[in-house]
Amino acid sequence: DPRAAFLADPQAGAAVKAADRAHVFHSWSAQGLIDPLAVAGAEGSYFWDYDGNRYLDFTSGLVYTNIGYQHPKVVAAIQEQAGKLATFAPAFAVEPRSEAARLIAERTPGDLDKIFFTNGGAEAVENAVRMARLHTGRTKVLSAYRSYHGGTATAINITGDPRRWASDSGTAGVVHFWAPFLYRSPFYSTTESEECARALTHLEDTIAFEGPGTIAAIILETIPGTAGIMMPPPGYLAGVREICDRYGIVFVLDEVMAGFGRTGTWFAAEHFGVVPDLITFAKGVNSGYVPLGGVAISAEIAATFDKRPYPGGLTYSGHPLACAAAVATIQVMEEEKVVENAAAIGENVLGPGLRELAERHPSVGEVRGTGVFWALELVRDRETREPLVPYNATGEANAAMAAFGAACKKNGLWPFVNMNRTHAVPACNVSEAEAKEGLAALDAALSTADEWV
Ligand code: PMP
Repeated sequence: DPRAAFLADPQAGAAVKAADRAHVFHSWSAQGLIDPLAVAGAEGSYFWDYDGNRYLDFTSGLVYTNIGYQHPKVVAAIQEQAGKLATFAPAFAVEPRSEAARLIAERTPGDLDKIFFTNGGAEAVENAVRMARLHTGRTKVLSAYRSYHGGTATAINITGDPRRWASDSGTAGVVHFWAPFLYRSPFYSTTESEECARALTHLEDTIAFEGPGTIAAIILETIPGTAGIMMPPPGYLAGVREICDRYGIVFVLDEVMAGFGRTGTWFAAEHFGVVPDLITFAKGVNSGYVPLGGVAISAEIAATFDKRPYPGGLTYSGHPLACAAAVATIQVMEEEKVVENAAAIGENVLGPGLRELAERHPSVGEVRGTGVFWALELVRDRETREPLVPYNATGEANAAMAAFGAACKKNGLWPFVNMNRTHAVPACNVSEAEAKEGLAALDAALSTADEWV
């Protein structure tokens, strides 16, 4: 790989690493136990370290580089905007902000035509909850256990998975419920339709016992992402929509991860024919080249704040550089048919390829996903579905997944690994050859995982 050879500079890498270890305090980590790779460069679906190694990025960063790294048109748009007007406060109408809002509103479903900009996903969730509370005059928020909604105060409380534990009870009025997940059904269901019906009954029961008149919002990831890429059964989201309508509850779909092409449509809600009241987005909106997120708001909720001020805002809301990157990203996605590519890669390459791996590797318990949004659930025993490592395992208990991850890297693939799962989440413009290269590396690494079966 000529690019890897060009960038190889172990001494420069050592200096980057030394300063990182001395001064950077990393997210979600035991600072003394981590060993972050020093990255020299990235392009498209690949990145390089300073030692001359190249990795195929099957994580898209944190599932956000939907058009890959260093897309020349987006880089140029940021440079051009920096030359024209690098920054301007949010209370003014400026061209990249207006244009980004227009392009996003055109792609959101239904009448979600007003866009409130934030700097990322968690702030989008914070503001969606605030809008729902002000709109309804109620406070409680219902969210699913197997979910992630962000690392700030309300967003981390709403999160259902273990990342919330350290911050539990920080925000009043968060109630968790079980969303459907047939492979590990909380309702002991054996079919999709049973799971759907039981999950909706469970949600209705939760609402009845919490008091319908106290609930401002139900928030769900359209397809839960970091918690396991679990496709909701047919009818579930439509059922939640109907329940929300019946009780005057605001329906929020968090599409921070699933939005902007990841599932083979602009928004994942399209797969289910559902229009929520609010959509939170971030990540893929501009492939994360400059931090950006936001809330797409329905006409009805927007009207609440027509004559009465919305009490919320951020210094960098709709930052011109971030919005210029969003405009360019959306244009690239249209010109290069990136959303269509994600759908086709899922249907023709990743879906069939991952299912074929599952047939040959006893450590694969289930394959699920769509577009470029796939999870492999690794198990010790296919019959009992015992996870390959215990829930939320660390250290020695996590040895099997650690060995799997190391085997991926040895085979040139940078994997997304969470608990007993690996997610195949490459860029939405990944090529067929790259997707196949990723499948071959996974094939080799799964042989390592098979040793724990
Ligand atoms: N919601 C979902 C569904 C996410 O996946 C994430 C990030 N992984 C967030 C919210 C939080 O986004 P951010 O990290 O940009 O605050």
